[in-house]
Amino acid sequence: MQVQPPQPTQPSMEDAGARPEDGPLHFDVAVAGGGVGGLALATRLAREGRRVAVVERAEPGTFRVGESLDWEAPVFLARLGFDVERWVAEGKATFKGGAVVSNAAQPGVRAEIGFSAPFRALMTLVGRASPTIHANRELVDVDLFEAARGAGARFFRAKVRAVEREGDRVGALLLDDGRRLTAAYYVDATGAAALFRRAFGIGQDEIGPRKVVVRARFPHAYDGLGTRIRTDDTLSEAAWIWDIHVSDGVTDVGIVVAERDFAALRKRLGSLRAIFLHQCLKHDDLAWIEPLVTEDTELWTCSFQNMVSHGSSGPNWIAVGEAAFVVDAILSSGFTMSLRTGFRAADLVSEALRKGAPQLSRLGRRIYHEKTRAQVRTIDGLIDVLWYRGRLREHYSLMMNVVSILFFNFNLNHLHTRWTPRTRLELAALLALHGAIDRFARAYDRTLHALARRRGLRNPNFAPALAREAGAEA
Ligand SMILES: Cc1cc2nc3c(=O)[nH]c(=O)nc-3n(C[C@H](O)[C@H](O)[C@H](O)COP(=O)(O)OP(=O)(O)OC[C@H]3O[C@@H](n4cnc5c(N)ncnc54)[C@H](O)[C@@H]3O)c2cc1C
Repeated sequence: MQVQPPQPTQPSMEDAGARPEDGPLHFDVAVAGGGVGGLALATRLAREGRRVAVVERAEPGTFRVGESLDWEAPVFLARLGFDVERWVAEGKATFKGGAVVSNAAQPGVRAEIGFSAPFRALMTLVGRASPTIHANRELVDVDLFEAARGAGARFFRAKVRAVEREGDRVGALLLDDGRRLTAAYYVDATGAAALFRRAFGIGQDEIGPRKVVVRARFPHAYDGLGTRIRTDDTLSEAAWIWDIHVSDGVTDVGIVVAERDFAALRKRLGSLRAIFLHQCLKHDDLAWIEPLVTEDTELWTCSFQNMVSHGSSGPNWIAVGEAAFVVDAILSSGFTMSLRTGFRAADLVSEALRKGAPQLSRLGRRIYHEKTRAQVRTIDGLIDVLWYRGRLREHYSLMMNVVSILFFNFNLNHLHTRWTPRTRLELAALLALHGAIDRFARAYDRTLHALARRRGLRNPNFAPALAREAGAEA
């Protein structure tokens, strides 16, 4: 059964747009895409008094993934004027104390990330003592939209059909309703559509395989502990399931399976519904789902590819969030990444507008790209090696806490919020740190595969018994 969460009166973008009779459609900044990255940037710049246009093809509050927020997200949200505790009080979100990870084939083994005393002590030390949240995006995104509109951004409910190019600059955005927007600066916030990257033919480095997602929403409540991650080692690539209690009595469940395995399951089981149930019912404590998944259950599907773009800006344009950098969904850091890049890009555009410069600062663009690329490569690389392909999950009750403290939740993510290099030297220091972590991950991966070969394992992911099972499934 599909849950209809409490819907506020849906604001429409239609009345917030401009018509041709409004005169020339020229702005300081034209933003393609009104997801979290585009809205954060638009709000910041509109609050400075800049004329900002946002072109978004969907109505506010259309479902988006990205519900489990990390500990940095509330910091950026507060800077936009949002109090996450208020969202919880209003039934738009639930508190997230951490994540609980379990494995289908290893009952009793579970990792609780974020609850341990050392983790809490470290988070308190760096000013992140408060819990973060799970957000019901249909409800929260409406607030983000209202903030941007309230700040003065003008919304165009349309699809950007094409990006008009002038060499390496953007000349205009062409909308599918025939309108043409021009601006001093342009922002690509179109997420996976990555309009500008495609228009300029910019490549990307892909990390790990493409993964397919099937997700549904249920009337179910948990104990409020945190995001549930359920892992599954019985396919050729590690698969997992999230279930997240996003708001009062509403739980989102999504299966994530590598594309190759998904194709095999599709061949064997047929429907999305059968695959969804098959994956869920590997976990005893998801048995409650079975009677709720019927012919009428609305299943939503997408796929994602972790990647870093080879370039994220031009002289008069910049890409934010998933238009340039995709963080693996299991890290629950994509929402923050879009906020952080939205904020940083807003600073660069603001600086250029203030100076009346014809282009964004070259050094600023370079730092923006290299810094974000390094962070995403490192965390996507680590999660690929340690989680998807490594044996870490066999030891995760201990190891996951250590890794999550050191790399994901604490050091890297936090460092990238707190500190942006200002000079080439500072950038070099940051890149050296990332280089060292990346080398560690590669060495770990090589060692792991060598050990697996010596023990005659097909894949270092699996203990021998699980490997046999995997052979049967894949
Ligand atoms: C399965 C999955 C689970 C995830 N879970 C989490 C999680 O738990 N926690 C977390 O922090 N992150 C998570 N993420 C990542 C997170 O959802 C994203 O990083 C984040 O939402 C990206 O925001 P964005 O603004 O960059 O892009 P989007 O949110 O994708 O916004 C892009 C916008 O551009 C619009 N658009 C696209 N093309 C056009 C066009 N041509 N014209 C006009 N508009 C256009 C789209 O309609 C959309 O509104 C998850 C991702 C996936 C795939």
